[in-house]
Amino acid sequence: MYRPRKSGKTPEPRILPLQPVPDTGRCYRCLRPRSRCYCNRIRPLETRTHFALCMHTREYRHQKTGTGRLARLALTHSQIFTGMDFTHDGALNALLNDPAYAPHLLFPGPAAIQISRGEKPALAPGRKLLVVLVDATWPWARKILRASSNLRALPCLSLDPTAPSRFAIKRQPHPACVSTIEAAYEVLLALAASGMEDPGLDFNPLVGLLEDLVAYQIERKKAEAESAAAPLSGRGTP
Ligand SMILES: [Zn+2]
Repeated sequence: MYRPRKSGKTPEPRILPLQPVPDTGRCYRCLRPRSRCYCNRIRPLETRTHFALCMHTREYRHQKTGTGRLARLALTHSQIFTGMDFTHDGALNALLNDPAYAPHLLFPGPAAIQISRGEKPALAPGRKLLVVLVDATWPWARKILRASSNLRALPCLSLDPTAPSRFAIKRQPHPACVSTIEAAYEVLLALAASGMEDPGLDFNPLVGLLEDLVAYQIERKKAEAESAAAPLSGRGTP
């Protein structure tokens, strides 16, 4: 409330209590706070390879740390599908059955084509390679595949990652498990090495974006831990 000054005394400065800063909104492309939006840094890669990102519904809701959406933004020829059982996903099935594509699932297995060891999927003339990536934690990815007969029926591609996951926020159960964007990066590197992908493209921005995302999340967790500890820090001191 405004009170007129009674005398020439300078009023005591009022210290306003700290208010939580209202969330001024997130960028609805990358879902990060607008101040940390990375959309203007993304130069989508026009790859020969197409990607279908099958994301577990739960993963889709937790996109702040998911990299599927980042992959979608960074790869021109990519689409996201969400669900758990994809067997009857009409849009995905239309893509899988489109004669323009040769769909393959990135998933390890004895019959998988080892693209990082130079093996190549045989594509009929005029067909483009469509790589299906299951964007979910490892246990969920297995559940998705058990449920989705259309994905299980696809020929598989497999790769040996060139580096352990950079995705420090989520613990990967095995060094060969990498985040979705790293998987896309590794697929592209392997395909470029065997002449199936445009060798003139620079795939490094894909992992650069991931490293930024990781640094940001670590910084945020640290700030949250510090603010949680702050009210206790003065207690008991003389
Ligand atoms: Zn953004």
